[in-house]
Amino acid sequence: MRKIIPLMIILLLFGCEKKENTEEVKSIIEHNQNTIISIHYPITQIKSIDRVLEKDTFKILQEFKNTYDSFYTLNQPAELNIDYTKKEINNRYLNLTLSIFIDSPTLAHPENYLKTYVYDKKEQKFLTMEDLITKENLKILASKLQIQLLNQYKDCLFLEEMKTKINDDFQNYTLFTFDDTYLTIYKNPYEVASGNCKIITLSIPISELELKIPLTKETFIEKNVSTPAPQTKVIDPTKPVLALTFDDGPSIYTKEIIDFLKSQNANATFFVIGNKVELYQEIIKESIQNGNEIGNHSYNHKNLAKLSLEELKDQIDKTQEIIKKTTGYTPRLLRPTYGEKNQKIIQHTNLKVVLWDIDPKDWGQKKTKEEIVKHILSKVTNKDIILLHDTKKKTVEVVKLIVPKLIEQGYQFITVSELEEVKLLNQQ
Ligand code: ZN
Repeated sequence: MRKIIPLMIILLLFGCEKKENTEEVKSIIEHNQNTIISIHYPITQIKSIDRVLEKDTFKILQEFKNTYDSFYTLNQPAELNIDYTKKEINNRYLNLTLSIFIDSPTLAHPENYLKTYVYDKKEQKFLTMEDLITKENLKILASKLQIQLLNQYKDCLFLEEMKTKINDDFQNYTLFTFDDTYLTIYKNPYEVASGNCKIITLSIPISELELKIPLTKETFIEKNVSTPAPQTKVIDPTKPVLALTFDDGPSIYTKEIIDFLKSQNANATFFVIGNKVELYQEIIKESIQNGNEIGNHSYNHKNLAKLSLEELKDQIDKTQEIIKKTTGYTPRLLRPTYGEKNQKIIQHTNLKVVLWDIDPKDWGQKKTKEEIVKHILSKVTNKDIILLHDTKKKTVEVVKLIVPKLIEQGYQFITVSELEEVKLLNQQ
């Protein structure tokens, strides 16, 4: 006899006003034989910033590829990770950082360094330290920073050498950001011949400086996130089921995918990257409301399998927190980056670690949508998890081709958690 079971899923009610998403984030994620690459930087819609960010990241990527692409490493490929932070102060000053991480079996230590960009939207120019404070003020700043450096970075080798670079010469202050309370100065490890220091970060209260630029205080109001309410969905466990999964988003293509899935009465699971959640929070909320599942795919797509325990937890927890804070939803699933799953990851998370059964490699630049469709349709069987990426335009087309075809064949598209329930039911 045919059994119909209702599965409870979580639906969010929304009271928040709609925010226009004019801004995007650019993501490049590649997994090649010798290199793994994950790059994220914002598209601000301000031409001069976007041009510089693109130029700088492209240069880093090219240098990395030139060094490591042909380098045959035996165990682990070389990794490049570029992540960003972006903070706008007083609706006028845009503070951006790029954090560059390079690891390779050929390096003694992973390289970590920072680039900063401070842009004045009103004056339409990048600010230097000289635009911010006077020469006299710089002297005061330098002496304060020197004390902080000696206190906070006692264990750093070449501390004295670093100290000499914190002086009253503006040329030594190319890395800085500020908000309405602190001015922060950074020093990259490569500025001195020392491998053991991390990026040096020193902050001085703005109140102790006389800034040359106008800066009025802004108050940030925490958004209220509404409470979830349950909704009933009907799945027939006697019929074949499939779980479509999308990694590395959200992106500008996610909305089209969730709209199409809705039109087909189909659901999927989206493994999102934490640093994109805030930007695409409305789309994630809509996705949840449509019955889709959201999973954790790290904060900035570093190779989780290679991280220290502390960094691993940070990548997972930060992503859980930002999803919860912006959407009220708590993910139950984790998909490790680059599909690299190990005992450390499994043991140190409460989340269910999920990989996939079918990988048509839709992220490959040379793969056509026809090849991807053919790959999926020729391999698919009941209860499979299919890996796709909602960061690729052609993947939208792939979804539009495969979903109706597979529904016609009798498949139901459900989330990964629902698939787990169906598997359990069928075992009984
Ligand atoms: Zn990924």
